[in-house]
Amino acid sequence: MTLDFLTLYIVILLNSLTVSVIWAAIAASYRSLEAARYWLASCLIIVVGGAVLAIQGNAGALGPAVVGNGIVIFGFFQMWIGVRRFFGLASGQRIAIALTAASVVCMLIFAGNDRARSIVYAASQAVPMALGIAALLRQRPYASGRYIAAFAMAVGIAGHATTSISNVMVMTGHMEFEAFYRLASFTLLCTIFSAVVWNFGFAVMTIERLRGEVAALAEHDELTGLPNRRKFNDRMEQEDSRARRSGHGYSLLVIDVDKFKGINDGFGHVAGDRALTHAATILASALRKDDMLARLGGDEFCLLLPETNAEQALEVGRKLADTLRRNPLQWKGQRIAITLSIGVAEWSAEHGNSFEALMTQADAALYRVKDGGRDGIAASQARPRLSLAKG
Ligand code: GH3
Ligand code: MG
Repeated sequence: MTLDFLTLYIVILLNSLTVSVIWAAIAASYRSLEAARYWLASCLIIVVGGAVLAIQGNAGALGPAVVGNGIVIFGFFQMWIGVRRFFGLASGQRIAIALTAASVVCMLIFAGNDRARSIVYAASQAVPMALGIAALLRQRPYASGRYIAAFAMAVGIAGHATTSISNVMVMTGHMEFEAFYRLASFTLLCTIFSAVVWNFGFAVMTIERLRGEVAALAEHDELTGLPNRRKFNDRMEQEDSRARRSGHGYSLLVIDVDKFKGINDGFGHVAGDRALTHAATILASALRKDDMLARLGGDEFCLLLPETNAEQALEVGRKLADTLRRNPLQWKGQRIAITLSIGVAEWSAEHGNSFEALMTQADAALYRVKDGGRDGIAASQARPRLSLAKG
């Protein structure tokens, strides 16, 4: 059985059109995914390429063959760029244009030799697939989608390699043209479907990414980008078990912005939001790798300091509040002073307190600071209140 090439070109066109519909829907609803736009462009370009190839019919007229293959090759490069953008790499569009132009020049050089020209098509399509595999395998996340896409591209390359080897065999008289034609039609079909499968792999990567983003959203505060209460509680539980195993304690700081309602009322809610992000940025700037700062809600933050006793935690809290005091929020030409009240509680092997109990102790210390006039820090367990302003 021989598959006729005209039908296959129409299959290229229809397949790409079908996949385009899917990428158009994804690109429209998931606007931050720039890769989807490249993959949509890739499919649409291949639709045009397939239409031009179909003009040449089974006879293989030179003009449509060169133009059609040139367009398809450029479409394949857009697929590669989509992979690069998906992983945040520079697009490489200049390389895509240069290599497509080089392919077209090679096709024209071999204009009079159908077999050699066919090898140029195959090699030129294999290059973006090989680059695509390299870009996919160099990454770590989204494993299942990456492997599906890379495997499909490898199948596409194998198809092209088979066509090229059989082309050489025809040129050297080791294969009949009819046998070559039959084989080439099947390998083209194989490449067409490998393209569908790599797009399927990209769709799986997209789903995996979206799932990660949703999970991150569920654990982060939208305004400041800090971990939220849920993530902080998870981390506290881990820290608590670690402290119980190792006997090395940790400290907890509960931090509340003073008279925050006044900022909202005096300067507006947007200024209030800016004050919160400003405070969060300053609080986060001085943290060590294992520390965790979270926004528990409203104007309340919580800071976990592993392997830190209350004295050291008081020192850290005092420094953070000083830094914030020295750096008021600049808002529409005005300076908005932000002060903090901080309560500290320390876990220790002797007390062995649970993290819920620690939180209550830190809260109690915080309320003592608020009752004492705000802008201060205090540790639980009847430690003397320390004034930040004097620190
Ligand atoms: P205190 O010194 O006793 O803490 O006084 P306060 O005015 O800061 O009082 P409180 O901590 O109870 O005020 C929190 C306010 O924060 C109440 C709420 O209107 C405001 N708020 C909560 N979430 C947000 C937010 O995301 N953005 C803004 N702009 N305001 C918020
Ligand atoms: Mg407050």
